[in-house]
Amino acid sequence: MTNPYPFEATSRIELSTSAFQSNYRFIKELVGSKTMVSAVVKGNAYGHSYDAFIPMAEDVGIRHFSVFSLEEAWQIKQLLKTPSDIMIMGSVPDNALEWVVQNDIEVFVFEPERLKAMLSVAHTTGRKARIHLEFETGMNRTGFDPESLPDIVSMLTEYNDDYILEGVCTHYAGAESSSNFLRVRKQIQNFKQIAKSSAMMGLKPVKYHTACSAAALTYPATRMDMVRIGIALYGYWPTPETFMHHSISSRKHDTDSKEPVLEDPLRRVLSWKSHVMSTKTVRAGEFIGYGTSYLAGVSTKIAAVPIGYAYGFSRNLSNLGRVIVGGKRTSVIGVVNMNMMLIDITETPQVKRGDEVVLIGKQGDQEISVASFSEMTQRVNYETLVRLPQNIPRVRIDQ
Ligand SMILES: *Cc1c(COP(=O)(O)O)cnc(C)c1O
Repeated sequence: MTNPYPFEATSRIELSTSAFQSNYRFIKELVGSKTMVSAVVKGNAYGHSYDAFIPMAEDVGIRHFSVFSLEEAWQIKQLLKTPSDIMIMGSVPDNALEWVVQNDIEVFVFEPERLKAMLSVAHTTGRKARIHLEFETGMNRTGFDPESLPDIVSMLTEYNDDYILEGVCTHYAGAESSSNFLRVRKQIQNFKQIAKSSAMMGLKPVKYHTACSAAALTYPATRMDMVRIGIALYGYWPTPETFMHHSISSRKHDTDSKEPVLEDPLRRVLSWKSHVMSTKTVRAGEFIGYGTSYLAGVSTKIAAVPIGYAYGFSRNLSNLGRVIVGGKRTSVIGVVNMNMMLIDITETPQVKRGDEVVLIGKQGDQEISVASFSEMTQRVNYETLVRLPQNIPRVRIDQ
C-alpha cells in the first residue's frame, strides 16, 4: 500500500447519498414489499467504485449483491460489513468452486458440467452449494435449454443433501427497447412454462427471478420474488423509451395540456468535478492549443482544466465537449490533451483559478448528463460509467 494522497486531486467523483436513497425507495415502492431487490454491482458498481458504493448500499438496507465474476465477488466480500448475500451471474474458474461453496456464494449455473462440479465440490466439503439454475428463454447467451430439465432433476436428486436451490432464473434480450417487445413477451411466456414444468418435476426454488431494471420498470410480470437492479439504482433510465413508458403509465397528467407529467423519480448518484488551473486571454486571430483546430475569432478568455484523456475525458470531445463553470455551460475549445483541456470562459470572465468545473452533474440550474456526454462519444450510459477511470477518487457526500 502506498500512503493515501492527502492533497486535492485533479478531479473527483462525488456520490450522492440522498440521490441513492431516493432511487432505492422508488424501486422498493415499484416492486412492492414481497419482492427482494438485489443490487447489481458488476463493473466496479457501474464505475461508482466498490469502496464508496458498497457501504452506501448496505446503509440503505440492501443485503443482496449481484456480480458478474468471481473477482468481483471476492472484492465485495472483503468490504461487506453486514451478513449479505453475493450472487455470481457469470464467470467462475473451476478451481475456485470450493472457495465459492465454503463462502456461501450464490452462483448462476447454466451448464451440466458446472452443475456437476458444484454438486460434487459441495459433497466433498460437506457444505451446501447455493445454486441458481439459469434457463435459456430466447436471449441465446447462457442458460440451460428447457429440454435438459429431466437431466438436471436427476443430477440434483443424486446430490439431494448437497445444495440449496436458491433460484430459477433467466435474463431478457433487451427489455429497454420497444423493438424487442415481442421477443421479450415470448421470453416471459417461455419462463412461465419452465417454472411450471420444473415445479411439476419437484424443483422448489427459494426464488424465481428474471428482471433487470428495464424489465422491472416496463413489464410488471417479470418482477417475481427478486429483481436484479443495476442502472436504475445509480439513477439512470436504461433508455429514454423506458422513461417515456414510465411517464405515460404513471398516469400523472398536466390538467391543462393533458400531456404526461415528466417528473423524473430517479436521481443521478454520480457527478464528476474538477477545477480551473489557470486562466488567460487570447487575442483575436490566434490559434488555441495544439494545431489549428480552434481559431479565436474574437478576443477569447480561456481556462485550463487539469483533465484530459488520461483521466477518461475522451479526445473525441475536442471542440465538442461541454462543461459547467461559473454557473454556465461552456465549450471545450481545441484538442483535449492527455492531462489538460481548455474551455471558453469569455461569457463568465469572473471565473478564476480554483473555481469548480463540472464535467458530469449539476452546478446551479445547469446540468451535464452522462447521456449528453455519451452521445457525443457514441456510447451508452453503461459504458461511459464503467469507463470512468478507477484512479479518480470517489467521495461520498450527504446531499
Ligand atoms: C447486468 C445485469 C442485470 C442488471 O441490468 P440493469 O439494466 O443494469 O438493471 C441483471 N441481470 C443480469 C443477468 C445482468 O447481467
